[in-house]
Amino acid sequence: MARAPDAVTIVTGGAGFLGSHLCTRLIAGGARVIAIDNLSTGNRANVAHLHATGRFSLIEHDIIMPIEISEDVSAIYNLACPASPPKYQIDPVHTFRTSIDGAHNMLELAKRKTARILQASTSEVYGDPEMSPQPESYFGAVNTYGPRACYDEGKRGAETLFYEYARAHGLETRIARIFNTYGPRMDAQDGRVVSNFVVQALAGDDITVYGTGRQTRSFCYVDDLIDGLIRLMNSDDGINGPVNLGNPREFTVLELAEMVLDKTGSPSRLRFLDALQDDPKQRRPDITLAHTLLGWQPTVSLHDGLDRMIAHFAQAPEQQRATALS
Ligand code: NAD
Ligand code: UDP
Repeated sequence: MARAPDAVTIVTGGAGFLGSHLCTRLIAGGARVIAIDNLSTGNRANVAHLHATGRFSLIEHDIIMPIEISEDVSAIYNLACPASPPKYQIDPVHTFRTSIDGAHNMLELAKRKTARILQASTSEVYGDPEMSPQPESYFGAVNTYGPRACYDEGKRGAETLFYEYARAHGLETRIARIFNTYGPRMDAQDGRVVSNFVVQALAGDDITVYGTGRQTRSFCYVDDLIDGLIRLMNSDDGINGPVNLGNPREFTVLELAEMVLDKTGSPSRLRFLDALQDDPKQRRPDITLAHTLLGWQPTVSLHDGLDRMIAHFAQAPEQQRATALS
């Protein structure tokens, strides 16, 4: 479809961790970007460097409410949603509504604007998986009635809405199932494992390991993930279904802790806390589809990505890295 040359790209959640990296990359590529964010887990500082380009603006708005945009819109990346378990569990009903009502509002906007729309879905749609690695064809094992359900079921419901809008309205939709991603600009108090361990190690605090630490995750560096999101958005027509984006190298939480301690030279000690309810025991993406359809695969190892993350947090002002949320 022909677009006005000055049509904008919208990034919901644009002031958050992934959103701010995405806005930065899109603007570097020449786009005009509007970020929509309620600043619940994101902040203005993450995107302060973009205003000077003259091609960026931030609208403070909660996507559970409808929004109208006066400009032509060519693409919408729907990233708004808290992603850290302790953060999304602060107001579970609002988290659920962000995924459901928020996706609905953004799909309606995409329909009015005839814009392509991408949903930031998650590996959490696989729940506590019974198979590894997880391909897109796996339906998942999700508890509908537990502390993670507000996030997992919200994201599953959003995928359903995307499916129906593509089917019923011919909307051009994309769904990225994002696996654990880390990097600079994660909030020091975000509560996710990589930022917690780095912040704790740099401060000399105990490293908080939930459960045995033998549960696994596969950690993707932010630059790789953003590259995958943009490739998926720009992919050929007909790729409506979900596509896994993540790094297939799998680590136990204990291995991650040892790597962080080794790299920081920290005297911190491991402190074992109760296991979290419904915490997935294993997680590893099958990225065959992303590789085949998009020619995408991660390029940054956990070894190198941690070095960059640690360098970033070591430079951050003292107050930003004083305490990890645990
Ligand atoms: P984040 O918490 O840093 O960013 C989320 C952003 O969305 C924040 O700026 C927040 O203020 C904003 N937001 C939250 N609710 C909103 C609402 N109702 N209206 C408007 N803005 C709202 O998290 P992130 O890691 O950058 O994650 C971004 C997206 O990617 C999320 O949708 C998340 O579910 C998805 N995702 C992330 C990961 C990961 O490892 N980082 C993994 C899977 C999926
Ligand atoms: N985790 C941990 N200590 C922390 C934070 C997290 O041991 O301080 C564990 C958590 O129990 C989970 C894994 O690390 O098994 C990844 O947690 P995170 O919150 O980063 O992401 P998610 O559970 O959503 O994959």
